[in-house]
Amino acid sequence: MKIAVFAGDGIGPEIMHEALRVLDALALPDVTLMEGYVGGAGYRKLGHPLHADTIRIAHEADAILFGAVGDFECDNLERHLRPEQAILGLRRELTLFANLRPATMFAGLEEMSALRPEVAGKIDMLIVRELNGDVYFGEKGIRTLDDGRRQGWDLMSYAEDEVRRIAHVAFRAAQGRKGRLCSVDKSNVLETFQLWRDVMIEVGAEYPDVALSHMYVDNAAMQLVRDPGQFDVIVTGNMFGDILSDQASMCVGSIGLLASAALGETQTQYGTKGLFEPIHGSAPDIAGQGKANPMAMILSLAIMLRHSFGLEAEAVRIEAAVAQALADGIRGGDLGGTAGTAEIGDAVLARL
Ligand code: ATP
Ligand code: MG
Repeated sequence: MKIAVFAGDGIGPEIMHEALRVLDALALPDVTLMEGYVGGAGYRKLGHPLHADTIRIAHEADAILFGAVGDFECDNLERHLRPEQAILGLRRELTLFANLRPATMFAGLEEMSALRPEVAGKIDMLIVRELNGDVYFGEKGIRTLDDGRRQGWDLMSYAEDEVRRIAHVAFRAAQGRKGRLCSVDKSNVLETFQLWRDVMIEVGAEYPDVALSHMYVDNAAMQLVRDPGQFDVIVTGNMFGDILSDQASMCVGSIGLLASAALGETQTQYGTKGLFEPIHGSAPDIAGQGKANPMAMILSLAIMLRHSFGLEAEAVRIEAAVAQALADGIRGGDLGGTAGTAEIGDAVLARL
């Protein structure tokens, strides 16, 4: 089992350290860790946020465990040298087009939600976000108009095959859950999402056991706060998914608890190749202070074991250990508590 370990910037190395302690405690046979440098760390060490050597490691590995990228000191670099190019580039390079972001309420954390506890308690959803297309990857620039004004522009587009493949991932995910899929778009205003909706309906015909519904993204943002319990699986584009999943994370309680998978179509001898990372960023405001909550990183390890290595029992063990630590009152700063990174790691290990 070859696992690429890309800790990245900010709190990335601190939370990765705890996840690797958990992996170590499982004593799995034949684990090879392949360390690589991404983001600002990649720029400093290798001169590029996603160096060719790092890409080679990513191709060679069966799965990638990714911390976070983002570094203020790199903000003034040209766009292609900025830290976030590492994650965008890896998703593109490995054709990781489906981002799965589970958001489930942990018992005992209802009070932490930005929502009323009785509303928050019902949250059990999966957001499937398309990752390879949309306005993030279109042509873009800042140009000067004839009258001298500068104009920023970004092209939004989806080809039908790009929508079709994410649709299949979402419909299959819904089949494995409660059988409800809500496609979130803005088809009343955007042509891109008119096509998106047409393709969702077309693919939906192949999944008669899944109830497909459609919602405009502005309404979805409202419904997520009003009654998140109505959602089972949500499928949406890259930008809407970026925003809605951060919103969903606050409904659950903290950004420090949510893990994600980015999957493609590559099958290894063990499972589906993917990249696994917390949904939060590098949190530069608390980096190096031992304050970061490593739970999202540890839960990312669990989903990696599940999807890329078929180790369901180990994944469940880790998830149960995290849930038990939370139930026992272990709280990081993100949850209004005082437990530090290592202390939370110890608490999870003790319950493993
Ligand atoms: P990005 O653009 O990389 O997603 P961001 O601007 O969304 O980054 P984050 O790095 O996710 O920002 O941080 C947002 C806030 O949440 C910060 O105040 C940060 O300290 C806090 N935060 C993020 N992750 C954690 C964590 N694991 N534990 C504790 N606090 C966290
Ligand atoms: Mg963010």
